[in-house]
Amino acid sequence: MTDKPFATGRCLCGKVSYSIASKPLRMAQCHCDYCQRSSGTGHMSLAFFLKDDVTIEGETSSYTTDADSGDEVTRHFCTECGSRLFGTNNVLTNIIGVSVGCIDDNSWFKPGAIVYNKRKPVWDFMDESLPTFETMPPPPK
Ligand SMILES: [Zn+2]
Ligand SMILES: [Zn+2]
Repeated sequence: MTDKPFATGRCLCGKVSYSIASKPLRMAQCHCDYCQRSSGTGHMSLAFFLKDDVTIEGETSSYTTDADSGDEVTRHFCTECGSRLFGTNNVLTNIIGVSVGCIDDNSWFKPGAIVYNKRKPVWDFMDESLPTFETMPPPPK
C-alpha cells in the first residue's frame, strides 16, 4: 500500500471496514421505499464507485429485492451491528453503491440528483436546487 485511498469507512461496530481507491462516479439522495425501510430514515445518501476500487474487509450479510427497473438490488449489512454498508446490482455488476454515512470523512459528498422524489416524506427536507426525479432517471451512458 503506497497510494493513499480516496476514502475509508467502517460499520458502527468496526467488524467491517473498507477502503476506496478513487473518486465516486455518481452521487445521489434516494427516497425509494427500499432505502427508507432498510435505513429506517427518510432517504439514503449514496456514492457509487467502481467495484474494483473498493476493498472490503470483514463479513457482511445481504438482502436482495427486485428494483423498479427489473434489476435485482442486493444490500449488504454488518452481521454484528446491522449497519447498511453497500448496495450492488445484478446488471450493473461493476458498480457498488456505498452508504455515505459509514465513510469516515464524507465532507466531499455532493449529490448530483435526488431520486424517487415521489416517495419523499414531507418532513425530509432536501436541497431544492438539485436535479430532482420522481423515480429513477435512466443511467448516464
Ligand atoms: Zn458492524
Ligand atoms: Zn433507494
